[in-house]
Amino acid sequence: MYAVKANPSPDLLKVLWDNGITHYDTASIAEVRLVKATLPEATCCFMHPVKSEEAIAEAYFVHDVKTFSLDSMEELAKIVRATDGATDLTLCARLRVSSEYAKLSLGSKFGVGPGESKELLIATRQVADALGICFHVGSQTMSPDAYTNAMERARAAIVEAAVTVDVIDVGGGFPSAYPGMTPPPLERFFETIHRAFESLPISYSAELWAEPGRSLSAEYASVVVRVERRRGTELYINDGAYGTLFDAAHIGWKYPVQLLREPDSDARDMDFAFWGPTCDDLDYMQGPFPLPADTVAGDYFEIGMLGAYGSAMRTAFNGFGTGDTVVASDEPMLSVYLDDEIADVRTNNVVKL
Ligand SMILES: *Cc1c(COP(=O)(O)O)cnc(C)c1O
Repeated sequence: MYAVKANPSPDLLKVLWDNGITHYDTASIAEVRLVKATLPEATCCFMHPVKSEEAIAEAYFVHDVKTFSLDSMEELAKIVRATDGATDLTLCARLRVSSEYAKLSLGSKFGVGPGESKELLIATRQVADALGICFHVGSQTMSPDAYTNAMERARAAIVEAAVTVDVIDVGGGFPSAYPGMTPPPLERFFETIHRAFESLPISYSAELWAEPGRSLSAEYASVVVRVERRRGTELYINDGAYGTLFDAAHIGWKYPVQLLREPDSDARDMDFAFWGPTCDDLDYMQGPFPLPADTVAGDYFEIGMLGAYGSAMRTAFNGFGTGDTVVASDEPMLSVYLDDEIADVRTNNVVKL
């Protein structure tokens, strides 16, 4: 599955569909509607463990959604009510697992802890046509060990409840490449997960699922910004914390940058911080972001790897947040897919309006 919240762009959804992704992890009824409007034959799975009853009913009766996640008896009762006691559901109980290997934690909000999962698994088994176990190890995990530990949690929960499990869904968390964050090859994650899956006490026909968001979308988009003012080593630019640079501002995430000037600057790089366009002091991206030392107002530069949790976070605060979208046939600025290693491929843009 592709986790739509990372980047709901219909163009990206079509690219993924054309490359064989048929299932979509949706977290809201608006995401379900968007996917079904864009890809009518796609299968949506509603993987937010806390949903409104109206959303569950519309998903099931209007959009043919059969797969739901849950992490409480309350949510189970809600799903039963909203689907009129449907008998064709795949229900995935979400376990709480550690986010210790992730750059972004998803460890506190959702999931049943050890000691609480037995009752939920047994009750869900009685209602579900297929019973799944799901979890999320946090976003941008930097080690496959994250999945080993979570699979051990899954094993303990299955043994304790003594139920037949038909689906193991290892969630998202697969990494992409960012400056200062070079993850191990994805194959190592897949090998680790397959090995752990093979050794679980589950039915021999059980399916292994995953819901990557970031790793399927990070390389998809860059943002081109303009320098409106320079103050020492600070650049005032026309996107920021309330736009695509939310993570750069709020959690100090770093992205690759590249000055777009012809002819190229031959000045050496120096470290810059950015101010976004709004009037708010919070609209600050510390970086550091290395750009040529002669960067001035009027220059444009590209910020890469913003396909995941970049454009999806844009707001209209202070009247900013609009921009033109162009399709570029170009390699991403960093990649976990090119060659066997993470390649730093900075080719010239070929832009199509
Ligand atoms: C956000 C989310 C994902 C995607 O996570 P990534 O770290 O972007 O891969 C998958 N599943 C659920 C339930 C999520 O909330």
